[in-house]
Amino acid sequence: MNIVLFGPPGSGKGTQADNIVQNFNLFKISTGDLLREEIKNKTNLGIKIKEIIEKGLLVSDNIVNELIKKVLSNLKKESVKKGLIFDGYPRNLKQAENLDKITDVDKISCVLNLKVEKEIIIKRILGRQMCTNCGLIFNEYFNPASKSNHKCGSSFLKKRSDDNEKTIAERYETYLDITLPILDFYKRQKILYEINGKEEIGEIFRKIRVIITSLQAWLCKTYSYK
Ligand code: ADP
Repeated sequence: MNIVLFGPPGSGKGTQADNIVQNFNLFKISTGDLLREEIKNKTNLGIKIKEIIEKGLLVSDNIVNELIKKVLSNLKKESVKKGLIFDGYPRNLKQAENLDKITDVDKISCVLNLKVEKEIIIKRILGRQMCTNCGLIFNEYFNPASKSNHKCGSSFLKKRSDDNEKTIAERYETYLDITLPILDFYKRQKILYEINGKEEIGEIFRKIRVIITSLQAWLCKTYSYK
C-alpha cells in the first residue's frame, strides 16, 4: 500500500512518517531529505537547490521527479511492493499527476492530511532539530531528544537552515498557494483522511495506525477475492 503524508511545513509529516516506517513495513521517500542530501554532498544540484529552499520556494518538478525516479529504480522490487510513504511529495498538481503515473499498478491508498494552524507550526519549526546521523526529528520544546529515544548523541542534532522565521513565512505562503489546492484532487478520488495534527505525537499516530490497519485489512480482503 502506498501512502501520502500531506500537510503544511512543520505539521509533523516527517515525525509520523518515521513512526509509520517503524511500525509498518513500508519504505519512506521524503523529497526534503533527498534534496538536503544533495546539499550536504555539495553536488552541482545541491548548490543550485540550497538557494531555492532557503527562499522558501519549491524546487523544480524536473529535479524532484528525477530524484524520486532514481530512488525507485535503486529500490528492490519487494520493497516497492510492500509499499511506500511519500513525505513532502506531491507539492503541486503536476507532481500529484506524476505520482499517479509512477504508482500506476499499486495506486495511492490514502492521503493523510495533518491539519495544523500557522501559529502552532511556527513554534514547532523554530524548535525543530534533526539528527544528521540517523535522520530522526525532534523538537527542543515539544519532543526533546533523550537517551531513551535517540542513540546518536546531542552533537548530531542540528537546526535546518530553512527553519528561521523569514523562510517559514515564505514556505507557508508557498504551501497555501501551490500545495493546498491539490487536496481537491485527492478528495475527488475519495482517498483523503483528515487528521488533527495539533494533538500529541503518540495520539496522532494512534489515529494513523487505525486508518492504515483497516486499509490493509480491506486491501487484503479485496485481493484475496480476485
Ligand atoms: P517542510 O515540509 O517542513 O517544509 P521538507 O523537508 O518537506 O520540509 O521540505 C523542505 C524544502 O524542500 C521545501 O520548503 C522545498 O523548498 C523543498 N521541497 C521538498 N519537497 C519538495 C517537492 N516535492 N517539490 C519541490 N520542492 C520540494
